[in-house]
Amino acid sequence: MKIHNFSAGPCILPQVVFDKMAEACINFNNSGTSILEISHRRKDAVEVIDTARALVKELMNVPESHDVIFMQGGASLQFPIIASNLLKEGGKAAYMQTGKWAENAIKEAKRFGEIDVIASSKDKNYTYIPKDYTIPTDADYFHCTSNNTIFGTQMKQFPNSPVPMVCDMSSDILSRKVDVSKFGVIYAGAQKNMGPAGSTMAIVQRDLLGKTGRNIPDYLNYATHIKNESSFNTWPVIAIYGVMLNLQWLKEQGGVDAIAKINTEKANTMYTEIDRNGLFTGTANVEDRSQMNATFVLNNEELKAEFEALLKQAGVDSLTGHRDVGGYRASMYNALPLESVQVLVEVMKQLEQKFG
Ligand SMILES: *Cc1c(COP(=O)(O)O)cnc(C)c1O
Repeated sequence: MKIHNFSAGPCILPQVVFDKMAEACINFNNSGTSILEISHRRKDAVEVIDTARALVKELMNVPESHDVIFMQGGASLQFPIIASNLLKEGGKAAYMQTGKWAENAIKEAKRFGEIDVIASSKDKNYTYIPKDYTIPTDADYFHCTSNNTIFGTQMKQFPNSPVPMVCDMSSDILSRKVDVSKFGVIYAGAQKNMGPAGSTMAIVQRDLLGKTGRNIPDYLNYATHIKNESSFNTWPVIAIYGVMLNLQWLKEQGGVDAIAKINTEKANTMYTEIDRNGLFTGTANVEDRSQMNATFVLNNEELKAEFEALLKQAGVDSLTGHRDVGGYRASMYNALPLESVQVLVEVMKQLEQKFG
């Protein structure tokens, strides 16, 4: 049976990525060696990471002022890395608090200096994106989260920040067009829209670095990874290979603009049904709804077992909401086909016919 994978992350990737990764595990590039047993400094491995970085630059139209690097540790390690690289000794940074990941980013940054939470939607359990806020001009940087994976909200616009803007784009990177030149740093754990887990991408504006007066450990210093072209130490060749294949797939689909259109169509299909079907309610503020993660609840909890049995029958997988919020979450990353959303919508209609 065909499985429709709505997992929030790690998540669905294109079939061609799985096929080529599987082949590389046995025989990488017809070299007679597995990709799992080769040096990250071998020529064909270096080609993988160079190609992945070049594809990010091309697909996101990264300006010359910025470098693309791959690191490890996930977005969670970027939280302290951001502060240690950009927050001056005795300085302060402004943060927008729009969910659990933003909370974590704030918590880590506080270890390095004064953090000014200039806007928060915690008062309504993160169901909306704050709009009225002022970014202080004396902050070293402003940090925001473009898409709140757990709560299903997404920033539709970015402010014109008077200070360098830093954004955690882990769960909507490459899903829509963004103007990279507006950002000082963009970072993303790979496992939501870029590839398998195991690597983290950062796009860093070079001239922001080296100004904190801090003694930053080498690995945590962006300058180290820029200088060493992401090969400061051993990087996960198989994981970056997956990223490279996924980016090649995205390019073949017509790039970010083309995928953004499909993503909009998927999200519209999903939210139209959530709003139409009397058995369900969407949890995020309508104008702030995420195109990547649609969160909703069943109005009558007694239908839970019936709904979940129908989902199972149809091959709909991993629709359960995050453990902190409950309900359901349909994650519709780039590789999820429109057809999968249509199957889910069909199940919601079946439930309505039976019990509505
Ligand atoms: C998943 C996620 C994270 C955490 O990523 P890790 O790579 O597991 O550390 C951070 N921010 C956002 C927006 C996420 O969706």
